[in-house]
Amino acid sequence: MSIATLPSRGTRGDISVSFEFFPPKSAEMEANLWEAIGRLAPLQPRFVSVTYGAGGSTRERTHATVERLVRETDIAPAAHLTCVAASRDEIDEVVRAYHAAGVRHIVALRGDPQGGIGSAFTPHPLGYANSTELVAGIRRVGDFEVSVSAYPEKHPESSSLDFDIDVLKAKVDAGATRAITQFFFENDCYLRFLDRARYRGVTIPIVPGIVPVQNFKQTASFAKRAGASVPQWLADRFEGLDDDPATRRLIAAAIAAEQVLGLVDRGVTDFHFYTMNRADLVYAICHLLGLRPKADARARAEAA
Ligand code: FAD
Repeated sequence: MSIATLPSRGTRGDISVSFEFFPPKSAEMEANLWEAIGRLAPLQPRFVSVTYGAGGSTRERTHATVERLVRETDIAPAAHLTCVAASRDEIDEVVRAYHAAGVRHIVALRGDPQGGIGSAFTPHPLGYANSTELVAGIRRVGDFEVSVSAYPEKHPESSSLDFDIDVLKAKVDAGATRAITQFFFENDCYLRFLDRARYRGVTIPIVPGIVPVQNFKQTASFAKRAGASVPQWLADRFEGLDDDPATRRLIAAAIAAEQVLGLVDRGVTDFHFYTMNRADLVYAICHLLGLRPKADARARAEAA
């Protein structure tokens, strides 16, 4: 394929994105979040998701954020939910409350062990034992779209990638309709996982999770705990920029652009962005992907 005919060089109409936010802790963080949502919403994401703090610690805040999305925007929200430290009845209650609030999409996760990543996971005695049971439980409560996680570099607790794919298959059999991956920096790693999952009969969309590196040290430390590898070339690209935030942001944009456009050239059309509640980088990357705010798109269509 010549460079001119690479898919990423074309005008595309088939790219679809979703954005992940975390629920704010303070009034200031809440203002930042809604500013970010206000900037990204006109790009018409397929959905935006709101995370659920470790051990259910943000239950009310997640619910409040998702409910506000339903009330004040026309974007479809997805609520993350974990089964840590809660009985089945408590979880089912949360799911029913989402249904009553008009939410129809849940991102179902087991959650990290209460002792922190690296310790053993102990289910609540009356709880869902794992994410597969949680998916089935959600589907029993109501008609939800259910997204689940996938780990291109294997979940840190898992014995093998094949075992993780077995787990993914079980989640699909229980009713999951989409997988969103842990973030990764080497596209081949995601593409190999995709091939392997397809070969093993997983047919649902497996959407790459993309993290724009807003802060290299923070991302590297999170990646270590989450079992995502940080290639040396990535560290090299941020080297010497600790006191130069403006250049860091340009580098971050260049790296994320290279990653998503590389995936587009390998046939990927759906992306999930871990926004860290900040819009600028993600907005720029979406622009490169050909997405335009709705109002502009309408104006262009009218002018055409
Ligand atoms: P699972 O797919 O359930 O797997 C977890 C581990 O259990 C794996 O090692 C797997 O092999 C093993 N396993 C699964 N089923 C079985 C079984 N039947 N028998 C034996 N072993 C089994 N965490 C939060 O707290 N809140 C969030 O909002 C949140 N959002 C996330 C969003 C995405 C897209 C991703 C990728 C992760 C998110 N996480 C979140 C992190 C996630 O909760 C942790 O990684 C957690 O440790 C695993 O939960 P899981 O549902 O992703 O994994």
